[in-house]
Amino acid sequence: MYFHPLHSPDSNLIGYLLADLDEQEAIVIDPPPRQTELVLALLTERNLRLCHVLRTHVHQVDAADCSPLCDRTSAQLVVGESAALPAGCGRAVHRAAHGSRLVFGNEVVRVLSTPGHTPGCLSYLWRDRLFCGDAFDVGSCGVGDSEADPGAMFDTLTRRLFTLPEQTLVFPAHPIRGRQVATLGELRTRYASRLQYSRDAFITDMSHRRERRPGSRTGAPTLPR
Ligand SMILES: [Zn+2]
Repeated sequence: MYFHPLHSPDSNLIGYLLADLDEQEAIVIDPPPRQTELVLALLTERNLRLCHVLRTHVHQVDAADCSPLCDRTSAQLVVGESAALPAGCGRAVHRAAHGSRLVFGNEVVRVLSTPGHTPGCLSYLWRDRLFCGDAFDVGSCGVGDSEADPGAMFDTLTRRLFTLPEQTLVFPAHPIRGRQVATLGELRTRYASRLQYSRDAFITDMSHRRERRPGSRTGAPTLPR
């Protein structure tokens, strides 16, 4: 097992390189822009073949472009069924459905549909690790403002993500309040006060938080404090 976070300080994005070293196959999740050369070097260092480039979500105005990595390897781009496509990516794209599985070497990644931050958001479950993009720390991703759906987020949190074991390690696309990993149990505790009421109350609470957020564009909920 090989697990290598790819933190880009300039964009504050975190990608993840995963590999089966025995079978020499790898995947990368949400590769940060301008880190193509780094990912290629890490692949070369261990003689790994990149099978898939997985995106948890793609914003309509997303400037991130993972086509260089696809173009320079045989990797296939994987996005959600209703995700926007990255600008400039001309390769064949695999739109992964909820419950489907992606394989690299002897490792399996389970695909979870987790809309809310954007309509086409996916999360990826690998062993005890969840890669969920901005499903939790959406306040740090301002470009998601107009695409966020608080009702869908409530459903994703209550019916999907918080049904996973609480020791699940959550790896986000941005640091969560300065941290790059949290357990699902911690996040469940943090969200408890906001999820104890009805779906409608959650949506209303989100709307109020948006209005109060200084300098906010309409739309992005923020992480509970
Ligand atoms: Zn986002």
